[in-house]
Amino acid sequence: MNTARSAEFDDRASRIQTQLFIGGRFVPAQSGETLAVLNPHDNSKLADIALAGKADIDRAVSAAKAAFPAWSRMAAADRGRLLLKLADAIEANAERLARLESLDTGHPIRDTRFLDVPRTAATFRYFGGMADKFEGSVIPVEQGFLNYLLREPVGVVGQVVPWNFPLMFTSWKMAPALAAGNCVVMKPAELTPLSSLAIAELMAEVGFPDGVVNIVPGLGGVAGQYLAEHPDVSKITFTGSTKIGREIVRASAGNLKKVQLELGGKGANIVFEDANLDAVLQGSAFAIFHNQGQACIAGSRLIVHRSLVDAFTERFVRLASSIRVGDPLDPNTEMGPLTSPQHRDRVLAYIDIAREEGGEILLGGKPPAHASLANGCYVEPTIVRAKPTDRVCQEEVFGPFVTINTFDTEAEALAIANGTEYGLGAGFWTRDLQRAHRLARDIRSGMVWINTYKRVNPGSPFGGVGASGYGREMGFDVMREYTQAKSVWVNVDAQTPPWYPR
Ligand code: NAD
Ligand code: MN
Repeated sequence: MNTARSAEFDDRASRIQTQLFIGGRFVPAQSGETLAVLNPHDNSKLADIALAGKADIDRAVSAAKAAFPAWSRMAAADRGRLLLKLADAIEANAERLARLESLDTGHPIRDTRFLDVPRTAATFRYFGGMADKFEGSVIPVEQGFLNYLLREPVGVVGQVVPWNFPLMFTSWKMAPALAAGNCVVMKPAELTPLSSLAIAELMAEVGFPDGVVNIVPGLGGVAGQYLAEHPDVSKITFTGSTKIGREIVRASAGNLKKVQLELGGKGANIVFEDANLDAVLQGSAFAIFHNQGQACIAGSRLIVHRSLVDAFTERFVRLASSIRVGDPLDPNTEMGPLTSPQHRDRVLAYIDIAREEGGEILLGGKPPAHASLANGCYVEPTIVRAKPTDRVCQEEVFGPFVTINTFDTEAEALAIANGTEYGLGAGFWTRDLQRAHRLARDIRSGMVWINTYKRVNPGSPFGGVGASGYGREMGFDVMREYTQAKSVWVNVDAQTPPWYPR
């Protein structure tokens, strides 16, 4: 490579897109307002991004509305082909996207390389394939009539995305919406807008028509709220806290838009006396410490049989204390910083809450001592022995913070597992086949993992019950969420009498 070309490559590799993506163009906010985006490793500034206000949301919704007729009538296979091209483009830019995501969120680079980026590409590819395979149906009604079902896109879809998996959630939300023929206005979290803007660049490059996707980073209470209220938005989909989920429902009432909510969780992780302890240790560490515990499906409540709780706890504390916490860009790092200073403080506050209720901190509960991490949003892997009714066992901490409860009987384990307002993911470890299926049936949860934890796949429905929200992402289920059934009746028999024979 000659020097000019390598400089060009470096420039591209480090380029950060900071403007709003509206109608196929990168534009500043109408107000000219910007917001600093920080690197949680040291809280240094990565960029100033344009901050969308109501006027920008209006522009984005208009662009989406204008693009909708042509996009929704395009052959489904052609929409699918664009999604497949985008998946290829993501793979071609994998390293750049992985670095950008690590810088903005604090995810370790080995996670962004091996999980976030490949899963993002896989999700766009899955729904690229789905676009021309999601069918309507014909209903066997009374003689003389044909009744068929069209699955029509809903129109302009608003999508409000959180900061914990910003790149991956771009694909989870956009890919099925677009495959079904909707146009999108996405509001990324104000803390982590960079990877979704990078995806917008790739979408423009592979040839998505202008306005089909618009990306407008802005404050939740301003841009997010206004998008959820907007009369020209036909559906709003949200991932984030249960508290804001309720705000979204209220905001949606004006035009009765469709709502889909993927909210918090308090994942139970039950260890039975017959479990394979080596597998449990590895699986449970991944369940809570992957992504610093900032996952709605984190296994944040260990519920362990009394016969092995001491042996398990000792080994789990040892394993957790060996996790390498450090700079996300170091390929050896296993756990990075939390994504923002506010969130680090919120997680640390739960240490005091645990102590006040008699919880025992077995590991962590503070920022790591290394001087090199002192300016970042780091929290050590934290393990707390607590009672199932304590706040730390009921509320979503969303950090590298796991509680341990003890049980004697299966019924007791189930009661603890089902004993929160949430119901997103849950798992358990056992070699007893009947118990496995019995619990899978009885656990109140949208997803259940048996002798594993936190598995996801674009084909497998993802979502919760209770305070964890409603609706399902992924698979055929999400295609139903992003479409409406239209029932068409045809009188096919010239002799068919009217309703009353006369
Ligand atoms: P949040 O729910 O406030 O933010 C999520 C998204 O909603 C962001 O894009 C934000 O800008 C937007 N938003 C905020 N207020 C809004 C409003 N009134 N109308 C429309 N959109 C709005 O989450 P947070 O404050 O960043 O985190 C708080 C807690 O939420 C976390 O500690 C965790 O427990 C939970 N959380 C869950 C998930 C998840 O994946 N389910 C993701 C992020 C946070
Ligand atoms: Mn950031």
